[in-house]
Amino acid sequence: PQHSGSGRADAANDSGPASPALRRSGRAPYDVLVVGAGFAGSVLAERLAAGSGKRVLVVDRRDHIGGNAYDHLDAAGVLVHRYGPHIFHTNSQQVVDYLSRFTAWRPYEHRVLASVGDKLMPMPINRTTLNLLYGLDLQDDAAAAAFLAARAEPVETVRTSEDVVVAAVGRELYETFFRGYTRKQWGLDPSELDKSVTARVPTRTNTDDRYFQDTFQAMPEKGYTAMFERMLDHPGITVETGVDHRDLGDLDVATTIYTGPIDEFFDFRFGKLPYRCLAFRHETHDTETFQAVGVVNYPSEDVPYTRITEYKHLTGQRHARTSLTYEFPCAEGDPYYPIPRAENQTVYRQYEALAATRPDVHFVGRLATYRYYNMDQVVGQALATYRRMTSEKAGAPVG
Ligand code: FAD
Ligand code: UDP
Repeated sequence: PQHSGSGRADAANDSGPASPALRRSGRAPYDVLVVGAGFAGSVLAERLAAGSGKRVLVVDRRDHIGGNAYDHLDAAGVLVHRYGPHIFHTNSQQVVDYLSRFTAWRPYEHRVLASVGDKLMPMPINRTTLNLLYGLDLQDDAAAAAFLAARAEPVETVRTSEDVVVAAVGRELYETFFRGYTRKQWGLDPSELDKSVTARVPTRTNTDDRYFQDTFQAMPEKGYTAMFERMLDHPGITVETGVDHRDLGDLDVATTIYTGPIDEFFDFRFGKLPYRCLAFRHETHDTETFQAVGVVNYPSEDVPYTRITEYKHLTGQRHARTSLTYEFPCAEGDPYYPIPRAENQTVYRQYEALAATRPDVHFVGRLATYRYYNMDQVVGQALATYRRMTSEKAGAPVG
């Protein structure tokens, strides 16, 4: 791409609102402005430039592309994810086919252990977890299912994140694995959160210890940032990092793709939408491996972090040292997670209605549509947005 700022990993932030591409005068140099260079913004920039011949300006207020999926070599030369572990998994062949234009893949099946007392055991809960926790010897699915059924508590209507788990495994396992972790991660009790949150994590009676069961599970071979660089590498795309769209002034573009927080776009007119924040502590250790798997979860409220990630398991990188990230959830800071609960959805609906009055702006992605989406879902949403935009011949045409 024509980088006036910098899309390269760790390059200095030498751009700004006054950079050459933006100072150009005369005819509007761009058809489309894309705010945010994460999955949502990058997929749409690529499609609009390569698929529709549009001239696209992409801005991101961070000093890099890739959004929350950004990865880079740290000071020790270990490939790490700046914003916590990103594991790619999907059941959508469409999404795999699309991303495979920009990256090769390294097969990787994610495994997670939960640290409980002085033991580590598989998470999601499976038969091995039950045997380790209770010193049992449950031999088959039926025995594990009977064990869980004897503990599960009937819940008339499953509404909350507490209901989902208690109805499946009972209160004790819920408290051991879910209550503390969820209270730390969200700053809310599971009884105050929509059921969809803990429903992400299933319970199994077999010994499958993979975190995901999707048909496609793999990591971009050279990392996420390398994949984004290829996606944005098109003569029709200009990338400006370190640029906030609020500082751009009038660019005279017909179409904007906005992927930041939707409440911010509308100056918090209906109040702030809560987004959960995280503080990351990155460490490098002088040892080849630190833990047995990519992620170890800490469900106890006695430790302030939720999980530790060791990236070499994810990336397959060989290195004499190893780098880790601890995640400390917090209330104030960069927005990372929309918080799924009814009262927040009510506020979001107001913003969504306002967004519908702006046919010139398309709101896409996790922050702009306030949805707890994985990467593949955001790619799917962006591709669907592109299809909708290109079939809108009668309405507001693209660019
Ligand atoms: P983002 O990646 O957040 O990109 C939005 C971009 O917009 C940001 O770079 C931001 O700087 C920019 N921006 C916002 N406002 C402005 C503005 N005013 N001006 C300029 N730029 C602006 N998904 C998975 O599939 N697997 C995982 O393992 C996984 N792990 C995750 C772990 C963590 C800790 C987090 C937080 C998320 C995880 N996700 C995972 C979800 C994944 O990060 C998202 O689905 C995806 O990155 C969302 O892409 P996006 O483009 O919608 O948003
Ligand atoms: N969760 C939990 N204990 C765990 C793992 C997950 O209580 O050991 C709950 C917690 O509320 C978490 C949610 O399940 O936020 C979803 O977990 P996931 O691993 O999908 O979270 P993400 O990777 O999106 O942060």
